[in-house]
Amino acid sequence: MTAILKNLIGGEWVDGAGITRNINPSNTNDVVGEYARADKAQTEKAISAAKAAFPAWARSTPQERYDALNRISIDILSRKEELGKLLAREEGKTLPEGIGEVARAGQIFAFFAGEALRLTGEKGPSVRPGLEVEISREPLGVVGMITPWNFPIAIPAWKIAPALCYGNAVVFKPAELVPGSAHALSEIIARSGIPAGVFNLVVGSGSVVGQTLLEHPDVAAISFTGSVSTGRKIAQACVLSTPMKKFQLEMGGKNPLIVLDDADLKVAVECAVNGAYFSTGQRCTASSRLIVTAGIHDRFVEALTERLKGLSVDDALKAGVHVGPVVDQSQLDQDLRYLKIGKDEGAKLHWGGELLNRETPGYYLQPALFTEASNAMRIAREEIFGPVAAVIRAKNYEEALAIANDTDFGLASGICTTSLKYASHYKRNSEAGMVMVNLPTAGVDYHVPFGGRKGSSYGAREQGSYAREFYTTVKTAYTNPG
Ligand code: NAP
Ligand code: MG
Repeated sequence: MTAILKNLIGGEWVDGAGITRNINPSNTNDVVGEYARADKAQTEKAISAAKAAFPAWARSTPQERYDALNRISIDILSRKEELGKLLAREEGKTLPEGIGEVARAGQIFAFFAGEALRLTGEKGPSVRPGLEVEISREPLGVVGMITPWNFPIAIPAWKIAPALCYGNAVVFKPAELVPGSAHALSEIIARSGIPAGVFNLVVGSGSVVGQTLLEHPDVAAISFTGSVSTGRKIAQACVLSTPMKKFQLEMGGKNPLIVLDDADLKVAVECAVNGAYFSTGQRCTASSRLIVTAGIHDRFVEALTERLKGLSVDDALKAGVHVGPVVDQSQLDQDLRYLKIGKDEGAKLHWGGELLNRETPGYYLQPALFTEASNAMRIAREEIFGPVAAVIRAKNYEEALAIANDTDFGLASGICTTSLKYASHYKRNSEAGMVMVNLPTAGVDYHVPFGGRKGSSYGAREQGSYAREFYTTVKTAYTNPG
């Protein structure tokens, strides 16, 4: 067995108070690594190290921040195959998806390296004679990051990079299921020239490490991505803490993909397969509701089913695999529970949904397609977070739009159509933060805002230059030059 990988606290790699064992979901006999688990006291130490390091980093020059973030980017990109393999091994997305995600993390650091050079303020005349007004942005202080398991490096990157770019100190709590990518990223950050204590890694459970971040008065803000139920707890804790914390929440989705009669069938099927099933459907932007108008419904279901039959579901590291395993037993149980719920509710399980045996023991599930579903069913209202999608039949565009918007969520939505009129109407009337036309609901750019509406998101947008709304606070200064 290799060494237990440590936490990064105040620039030191330290042992923990227990061990997190990282299991490969493609082969549960394969232990990817063992990671020191931080307790409450160590989390508090990380917070005080961040607090101590913050003032100097807040005063660092744009050049220093550019240099560090750029170094991190170069390091990540130069190791994308190796880190992509680690990611695919610990999370179960396919190797190309893993490598793609690592590359994305590198690009995000490059983007925020540039942003560090672009931070400016405003200066203007006062409404009162002779006075001057300046508006500037300052960092928040110590920011706690609580991330989910499904994008083990990209989501941490899109929180850590802007936090550091704008002069904050960070305490990073990754999801316990995926400590490997978090540890690798932390090692890269530790070597980037960023002063000790500015960035800290504490691996551990939400209830211990996460809770400590939420309760601690020296944590100024929390950036969270995960489920709605955890998000709600985070919001409550941030409001109840003294002083109150700034927070942003990125949560679940029940994202619709509309397919209209006039859609290019091939495009629509590709959008559905990619959006609903790639990354094992474990994406907050996955299309889990396929809303299909009557004239194309049967052709679409048939073509999609044919496409699903051709997908290879297997070990995430094998070449040519399209869909890897579900991340762990508890997520698999949830997927199976919803397959039963859908059948009990009267939807037709048209294809898939069986457990699969492969060479190695893993959480393999045949991608599942429900038809004859209604938007009132639980499988159409609640996030499943697995390779499960439901086709809902609609009379026409108007009804499809109404169904698409009839949800507690609002992260991403899509439409497949060759009609400019419907595409344009949909972009304006979809109640989602991100709208895709003839594209899968999942898959976004990194230089533009990411986030949703309704139950999917709360607070400032992430990514692109919009990230500074969360990671900075605005100061208005008045001067009487005399
Ligand atoms: P989760 O169970 O909510 O966990 C997310 C993070 O919160 C983990 O690090 C978890 O720690 C931590 N946590 C759990 N309970 C906590 C508590 N009481 N206090 C503080 N922290 C706590 O979500 P998940 O299962 O990892 O991820 C799946 C969910 O994430 C899905 O709902 C998905 O839609 C959502 N997601 C959303 C986006 C988006 O941007 N909108 C992106 C990706 C995923 P441990 O698990 O380590 O204990
Ligand atoms: Mg794992």
